[in-house]
Amino acid sequence: TPVIVAIDGPSGTGKSSTSKAVAAKLGLSYLDTGAQYRAMTWWMLSNGIDVDNAAEVATAADKPTIVSGTDPSAPTITVDGTDAAGPIRTQEVTAAVSAVSAVPEVRARLVELQRSAAAAAPNGIVVEGRDIGTTVLPDATVKIFLTASAQARAARRNGELNGKEAADLAATQAALVKRDAADSGRKTSPLAKADDAIEVDTTDLTLDQVIECIVTLIEE
Ligand code: C5P
Repeated sequence: TPVIVAIDGPSGTGKSSTSKAVAAKLGLSYLDTGAQYRAMTWWMLSNGIDVDNAAEVATAADKPTIVSGTDPSAPTITVDGTDAAGPIRTQEVTAAVSAVSAVPEVRARLVELQRSAAAAAPNGIVVEGRDIGTTVLPDATVKIFLTASAQARAARRNGELNGKEAADLAATQAALVKRDAADSGRKTSPLAKADDAIEVDTTDLTLDQVIECIVTLIEE
């Protein structure tokens, strides 16, 4: 039977790098659900939708066609056939994504896409996000909840920005903490650890150690 792995946690815990590597190692598909919320947000911004108007966002939620390629060595995301990998990582999208993803119609639409991707994966899949273990795939084979100190997460996020939009560390940390609060303070599907998830604190671990730890948990 296919192996379904749910990996949840806030940003900057190494979720994406870890999830891709685990999927590649075990021959599984890979899905980045954050990229789908970002793709939805990018479409809203590009089409003049007021992202702070939940009713407007709700009405538009079924309009964009979002397609995720699930090969962990080359994940892709398109919106209405256009490559969205670059545009979904801008500061504008990052600033608007919490508001868009709080809208129930947006979540319903994307959760459906996520469940279909999991069902279609031939050997199984690693799905990363915020609510995978609790809501999207409550029957997952293995559920991981990644954590790290706010300082460690800010340092990693700054490293990822790679000079492109690099802010100073304190500013990055402040923005992260703000997005965490927005993500966990809302009523609809907050960031949450499933009761049966295994928590892995990555603060003092290398990426390879985290990957090894999760692979071991899956193979047990
Ligand atoms: O993982 P990433 O940081 O790219 O996710 C971007 C945003 O998408 C999160 O801050 C959160 O608002 C939203 N998200 C969500 N549910 C998920 C994945 C992401 O609400 N499963």
